[in-house]
Amino acid sequence: MSTASLLSNPIEYLKGVGPLRADLLKKELSLFTFNDLLHHFPHRHIDKTKVGTIASITPDMDFIQIKGVLQGIDIIGVKRSKRLVTQLKDETGTIELAWFQGITWVQKNIVEGQAYLVFGRVSFFNGKAQMVHPEIEPYVATTMAQKSLLEPVYSSTEKLKARGLNAKQIGKLTQTLFQQISDRDIPENLPKHLLENRMGRWEAYRQIHFPSSQANYKKAVDRLIFEELFIAQVRLNLIKIDRHKNSKGLLFEKVGNYFNTFYSKHLPFELTGAQKRVIKEIRQDVGKGYQMNRLLQGDVGSGKTMIALLAMLIAADNGFQSCLMAPTEILATQHYESLSALLKEMPIEIALLTGSTKIGERRRILKGLLEDDIHFVVGTHAIIEDVVQFKNLGLAVIDEQHRFGVAQRARLWKKSTIAPHVLVMTATPIPRTLAMTAFGDLDYSVMDELPPGRQPIKTVHRYETSRASVMDFVKTEIVKGRQAYYVYPLIEESEKLSFEDLMQGYEQVKSFFPEPTYKISMVHGRQSSVEKETNMHRFKTGDTQILVGTTVIEVGVNVPNASVMVIESAEKFGLSQLHQLRGRVGRGKEQSYCILLSSVKAGREAKARLKIMCTTNDGFVIAEKDLEIRGPGDIDGTRQSGALNFKLANIINDKIALEEARQAAFELCEKDPTLQSPENAVIRSFLISQKSKIGWGKIA
Ligand code: ADP
Ligand code: MG
Repeated sequence: MSTASLLSNPIEYLKGVGPLRADLLKKELSLFTFNDLLHHFPHRHIDKTKVGTIASITPDMDFIQIKGVLQGIDIIGVKRSKRLVTQLKDETGTIELAWFQGITWVQKNIVEGQAYLVFGRVSFFNGKAQMVHPEIEPYVATTMAQKSLLEPVYSSTEKLKARGLNAKQIGKLTQTLFQQISDRDIPENLPKHLLENRMGRWEAYRQIHFPSSQANYKKAVDRLIFEELFIAQVRLNLIKIDRHKNSKGLLFEKVGNYFNTFYSKHLPFELTGAQKRVIKEIRQDVGKGYQMNRLLQGDVGSGKTMIALLAMLIAADNGFQSCLMAPTEILATQHYESLSALLKEMPIEIALLTGSTKIGERRRILKGLLEDDIHFVVGTHAIIEDVVQFKNLGLAVIDEQHRFGVAQRARLWKKSTIAPHVLVMTATPIPRTLAMTAFGDLDYSVMDELPPGRQPIKTVHRYETSRASVMDFVKTEIVKGRQAYYVYPLIEESEKLSFEDLMQGYEQVKSFFPEPTYKISMVHGRQSSVEKETNMHRFKTGDTQILVGTTVIEVGVNVPNASVMVIESAEKFGLSQLHQLRGRVGRGKEQSYCILLSSVKAGREAKARLKIMCTTNDGFVIAEKDLEIRGPGDIDGTRQSGALNFKLANIINDKIALEEARQAAFELCEKDPTLQSPENAVIRSFLISQKSKIGWGKIA
């Protein structure tokens, strides 16, 4: 198929554009080519066949078209209020029309006593209906018959308007475009079976600009949205298939003694259904000979650490080492401690490597990793450093992924000749639709089930004015033997402010909970890691009952006896952060509470967030709401992925289309992963023309 489409022509080749206007179109609207203009869709259409009456005008009305006769044309006012006014009269009443600009031109072009068709937005001035700068044209009986039903309205800019390119004139350019191109320039790219009940591609582009009816417009939009989503999904599927086929991976053929012994003798609890499913998915992945690149999404407390351990045991069974990376030293240490406890009766060597590991110990670990005496190493970024060399790294588990960049992951891969399997675990649930689009090329598991016997956390929102009663409540919990967290926001602009906030808070907490009856730990960013560690440790062991801190404790910390989480200035936190923080409690058998303190003055959006927190504990539901409030592209843990740059589709509003597109793409790629079959030629050539970054050489 020919790819030399007219659509790649520069915009100045379009009749009526020329170099000057072309320059402006490029600068103002990023319209460089015919293709860009084709995709500059109208943001709405005006039905010009509908003519209203002046009597029917109401204040809540947006645009209206009226037919009437002009009476009295006057120029009144001076300077900035100088304007041309005239009255338009129909059978039901009169309305004032006014122009503040282009007065001379208007004056020349309208005639008193003649009939005009007027279109514009109605505004009310001193209680009187008025139209400022309406579109106006002489009314001729035949005008109506000739008019296309729905006229497109395009976005324009002040600069363009000044150069004679207003919404209407851009419409003219689009009309010219459609005169110059033909259906050969917009070939079909969906296979036949997806075209039943769906508008063809060329027709859809024509109808989205110049619809012959509302119904056809809707069909056109639906078709183009589906196409957008479908193509994106096919692309992601092909990338995934390509990776599976062409990335050489380590083969973990068997599940052996380490895994089996642990599973039958040392597993402290029955796995949840979700945990069983995920470990099975991982086992299948690593046994296929390609590199696993799996994202595990699990809500806070769903038991991801156990998944990491089981996967690492499989690696050990196949003679490979594993590493587990956490974003903070506190977390790394916690993982190390819990894994060590679980593995205490197992012949597994496990080490902890962080920035504060002492030189001697560090030397021992580096040697152990190189000589294969150490099976598992748990740590922070320290693991990525080049001096850390493995004998045979087979699996890298990355916990709480959104703190690690892609580049850092890449450094991990370089630690063995064949890239190790990678399991990324994140506790910031991402809505399904977002995951499908942003991570569609990864292997993806979800753990949407919590271990049994957990009591749902009770969450309430209180204003700061009732802090005293909140403190009293916390006291009753502490008296029962429980522990509590007090979290203060990290003020991003100023570390100093955050620090002062925290210190003030600390003093306040201390005045309610005086020593020596109560003991308080504090952790914050200015402490040395040893200090942090000591304070955390005292809280963990129950030596202190209260932990005051900033968001250092946001991720992963596991102290099952803690039953209260108080979040100060909760309006300053995002939803996923609040959810993470709340996840620090509710880890034991006792009823837990989360108290969100905010200022009375918190904004509307912030209050909406707090309300959501009070109504659900489900991280996936929260993520959906977050997406609705903030829109895509801004959600923690998502890559700035090209897959999200849709022109028409919107993953929030077009969920159903997305699901359908995904299913269709999956089936197509499953059946014909190289797109060789004749019916898929259309999509294949389309992808090639789009220069998709797919290893075509490899799959051809
Ligand atoms: P997260 O997914 O947030 O990282 P963790 O791995 O820290 O969760 O697990 C949270 C708590 O739940 C831990 O105390 C862990 O021992 C416990 N846990 C994990 N899986 C189960 C299970 N299947 N049954 C009971 N408790 C479990
Ligand atoms: Mg965790």
